[in-house]
Formats: sequence, structure tokens, C-alpha cells
Amino acid sequence: MRLSRFYLPVLKETPAEATIISHQLMLRAGMIRQQGAGIYAWLPLGFRVLKKIEQVVREEQDRAGAVELLMPTIQQADLWRESGRYDAYGKEMLRITDRHDREMLFGPTNEEMITEIFRAGVRSYKDLPKLLYHIQWKFRDEIRPRFGVMRGREFLMKDTYSFDIDKDEARRSYNRMFIAYLRTFARLGLKSIPMRADTGPIGGDLSHEFIVLADTGESEVFCDRDLLDMPAPDINVDFEGDLQSLVDQRTVHYAATDEMHDVEEFEQKVSSEKRVSARGIEVGHIFNFGTKYSKAMNAVVMGPDGKEVAAEMGSYGIGVSRLIGALIEAFHDEQGCKWPVAVAPFHVGIINLKAGDEAVDGACTDLWRQLESQNVEVIYDDTRSRAGEKFARMDLIGVPYQITVGPRGLKEGIVELKLRIDGSKQELSPEAAVNFIKEKIAEGLKVH
Ligand code: ATP
Ligand code: MG
Repeated sequence: MRLSRFYLPVLKETPAEATIISHQLMLRAGMIRQQGAGIYAWLPLGFRVLKKIEQVVREEQDRAGAVELLMPTIQQADLWRESGRYDAYGKEMLRITDRHDREMLFGPTNEEMITEIFRAGVRSYKDLPKLLYHIQWKFRDEIRPRFGVMRGREFLMKDTYSFDIDKDEARRSYNRMFIAYLRTFARLGLKSIPMRADTGPIGGDLSHEFIVLADTGESEVFCDRDLLDMPAPDINVDFEGDLQSLVDQRTVHYAATDEMHDVEEFEQKVSSEKRVSARGIEVGHIFNFGTKYSKAMNAVVMGPDGKEVAAEMGSYGIGVSRLIGALIEAFHDEQGCKWPVAVAPFHVGIINLKAGDEAVDGACTDLWRQLESQNVEVIYDDTRSRAGEKFARMDLIGVPYQITVGPRGLKEGIVELKLRIDGSKQELSPEAAVNFIKEKIAEGLKVH
């Protein structure tokens, strides 16, 4: 991609309305543009990152045995009357009326709709378990939208729903999502900690919020330091097998958000040097709610004994658009974003120090072609901006590998390669730069 053709409206000043670094950088780097309170247009750079996150989330859902579909954003009020939630949901729901005066709504979540879809097509326990998910825009009329995409009103969520014949099977589905979530966040470069969450009137222990530690997080959290050192299960994890011990390894350690925090238990279970009290961002939430919706909406299947039973259900959300905020909070410095390769909007930036010079233009396009033929994603700064401006912009948008090509170096057959991660620079031949980058990108994209 040529920068001169791209749309990258970077800002020089930090917008006053943005109080946290991720929001500031998303605006400054031209990733989003606000269109209303908690409503954002995704500009090309931001959209590229959003799609990458979405794809990682999708791959790990698929690996765990979930099946993707797509439900609409607009739903009928009547469906929500079946579960009793139409009135209960309150002001967070955006209610709409169509031209026939039918009551509609912009979906804040999809339990009712997926239950309707399930009951229409599944009759027997033999068709279970089912794990269905979609990645779709949600609208919640949040009382206090803030921190940019972190707490938006319109936001992108991955929501999965599980249907099982009994509680044991439902726990297996829950465990699949538990492990899939650890893997998903780890692939994005984030350390997530599952923390027990409130189950309300449903009861039981099957509700966890996945928290990424960040000083700007909205949640206050408490946990055992050992959880921070635990790696996510690797690619060889068998989702068809018993995942209980992998889940238990984590849930034995104390981890709770302020709502669930028990000071006495914390101090008793965790030795003082291992007590972590910090702030965090909720990037995911998994929850088993039994037969709450299946009973209310008559989503029943024939059991092995010929009797009808209401399906045991759970729902599992990931804040896909919120994750961009969480990622920037985790990966940035004074100069801007520092994207991990797995989600970087571009892998490589080529900076042409003398656009219009035949030799430099030629060397840049050569490099660009060679890298793109290896599936490396390149943003080529072919503009006439000043060198300083080019360097600053490349750092601001956080491109992990940056190659600078100028007339002087070129005469000696060298270009400069800079690593955004630590700012280190090396001079090498264009061929060596391509080989170095090729390997690094392959390594960065490798799924462990
Ligand atoms: P919160 O406590 O942050 O309001 P929630 O409990 O309402 O979250 P869920 O209904 O469990 O969230 O939604 C699943 C995920 O969707 C959350 O874990 C979060 O990552 C994301 N999410 C929820 N609300 C928003 C929002 N307003 N903006 C962006 N992402 C959100
Ligand atoms: Mg909420």
C-alpha cells in the first residue's frame, strides 16, 4: 500500500476529550473518528487492526469446536417478550419502531435470537453439544460511554452460545470456551486472567471474567501472582478431551474483581508477597445460565430416555473492539503504538527519504514488491513529507519493522532497518533486510 493513496489522517495535537492513552493514540493515529457519543467510524488503519483481532478470535473459536453464523443487528421486540427481558432490559436497549409500528430493537446481545434458532432446528440430544457464535455489532445505550472504543455504545462483540443435554456436558462446553479464551488473548500478546464473576440468582461457579491488567482499566482486581506466570495452553490442547484439569490449575488460585472480592479469603489463600491488587480491563466474559432461556422459550430436546428436556445453556462474549484499546494500553510508548506482529495494521513500513529520485524510488518499490510477494503487509511512505515527519508518523502508527531508504546509503548498497519494539537500528543490504523481516514475520505469525 502506498501511503499517498491510503487514508491516514494523523493528528499533531492530542485531542482534549481523550483521557486515556489508547483513546488518544487511536485518534492521533487516524484509526477512528467519532460520529456520536460512543459511536465511531473505523478508518482504514483502525479497521485493519480490528479485522486482525476478529480473525484471531474466529480461529480460536473454530479450533475449540464452535461454529460461526451471523445474526442480524435488528431484532423483534416480541422475541424478547418471550424471555421477559424486553421490559427488564431497561434504558440500555435502543428501541426502534418500523413503518408498520412494529417494535424492534438494536441487539445488545443475542440469547433470545440464538435460542429461537436452536429450537427451530434441534430436536434430539444426539445433535448436542452445539456451540454457535457470531461476530456482530451490538448497541448498548451506556449511561457513560467513555475511553473511546473501550466503552462504546456501538461495539463489536464475539458472542458464543452453548447448548447441552445436562449440567456435566454444559461444564465441558464452558471449559472449551475457558481454554479458547486463554489462547485467544495469548495469541494477541495479552496476558489474561480469568476471575470468578457473579452468577446472581443462577448460582454456581460457572462465570468468569477475563481481565487484562492495565492501570487505566475500569475494574479493580485482586489475584495471586502465580496466575500471571502461567502460560496459556498450547496448540496441542485437545478440545475434545477433558479440559477440567487445565481449568482447575487456574481456578484454584485466587482471582476476583472488586464485586466478588473477599478480603479474608484473599489474605488466607495468598501469601502477602504474592498478592496482586491492580486495575484491569474486562476483555471477555463467560457465563453458564442453565435453563433460564430454554425454559422460558421452550427450547427442548428429546433426551436418551425419550423425555423432553430444556437445553442447558451458556453465553461467552469477547469485546473485539474493546481489545484494540486494551492492546494499545499494553503496547505503546511516548512515540505511539507498538503493535505485536499478529495484529499490526502493516508488518513493514518503507520510508523513502527522497521521493522523486529515480534510484531511491526504484529501490523502494523493489523492496515493497519482494516483501508483498512473501505475504508481508507493507505501507510504503512515498510522500514528499519531511524525513522527521515520516519517522514520527511511522512510529505513531506503530509499524513493527521500518526500512529507511535514502540516496546516500543506497550508493553503498545499504538501507536502515529499525525495530519499533526497542528502537534498535541496523544497516544492511536490501536483500538481507528482506530475509531478516521474512523470518521475523513468520515467527510473529506462528500459532503456538
Ligand atoms: P461491562 O461490565 O464492561 O459493561 P458487560 O458485563 O456488560 O461488560 P458482557 O455483556 O459480558 O459485558 O459482554 C461481553 C464483552 O463485551 C465484555 O467482556 C466486554 O469485553 C465487551 N463489552 C461490553 N460492553 C461494552 C462496551 N460498552 N463497549 C465495548 N465493549 C464492551
Ligand atoms: Mg455492560
